[in-house]
Amino acid sequence: MTNFVKLKYGLREGKLSHISSVPNGLACECLCPKCGSKLVAKNMGTLAAHFAHNSNAECLGAFESALHIAAKEIIFNHKALMIPPVKIKFRSGREDIVLIAERYIKFDSILVEAQVDEFRIDLLANVGEHKLAIEICVTHKVDDRKRRHLQNNGFSVLEIDLSSCTYDLAPEILEKIVLNDVSNKSWLVNQKEVKAHEFLMRSAKTIKSKVFRGKGKLIECPLGFTGSNAIKGFVRFTDCAGCNYALGISGINPEVNCIAGNKSLLAKIEKQHLKNSVR
Ligand code: SF4
Ligand SMILES: [Zn+2]
Repeated sequence: MTNFVKLKYGLREGKLSHISSVPNGLACECLCPKCGSKLVAKNMGTLAAHFAHNSNAECLGAFESALHIAAKEIIFNHKALMIPPVKIKFRSGREDIVLIAERYIKFDSILVEAQVDEFRIDLLANVGEHKLAIEICVTHKVDDRKRRHLQNNGFSVLEIDLSSCTYDLAPEILEKIVLNDVSNKSWLVNQKEVKAHEFLMRSAKTIKSKVFRGKGKLIECPLGFTGSNAIKGFVRFTDCAGCNYALGISGINPEVNCIAGNKSLLAKIEKQHLKNSVR
């Protein structure tokens, strides 16, 4: 995204206003969302309507600031949002399990620019007993330290990526993108996913590999599978990578979190997955 793009939004009496909704010239009474200086509306003539700084200064990142403010305003005003599906992801190559299908949620309460300890959060919503931090990404993604802090303090974190939005986006299209699109939204943390994943991992058995002379490192399979070139009842960790029961594979001396001994639990969760996957 280039920084010197035509600015389509200005702050008028503290509210973000599109160029199409204000009088021309200084009568627009708008300020720059980034630097706070006076703007001139140029919405007549042959050039596409836009705001310019009255001082003629070049202001880096004014469009990005406007987009950030606009997205927060839209969510705050609607107090609702489409959220992407919540999926349990595994470090084994196994297919994700859809825990909750994508859906529209309404907030019981919402705050803009909330403080959580040392961290500033774009929007902080409550849905029942769930605490949801919503971060708008225009230029900066949520860093790992912030994500971990929020996760450890019981927040789910939803990131909305607006980095591909262009300066000429009409306000009603931006509203649709922010509220209804799910392709630009991702769960950096979802507490339900975290708990379900932990529960499944606790229910799985960690099987360490053993070294077999001439055969390398092999895993004793509780289902008695025999993998590629392996001894009967033993598999390579690469064989587990394609198995539905492998929830995690890790280490230089590979070990596998295998849930084959608790099939009924997995079946129960997968049944829910099937229900959630059908829309
Ligand atoms: S993950 Fe599959 S192949 Fe690997 S040990 Fe478990 S049941 Fe066997
Ligand atoms: Zn500015």
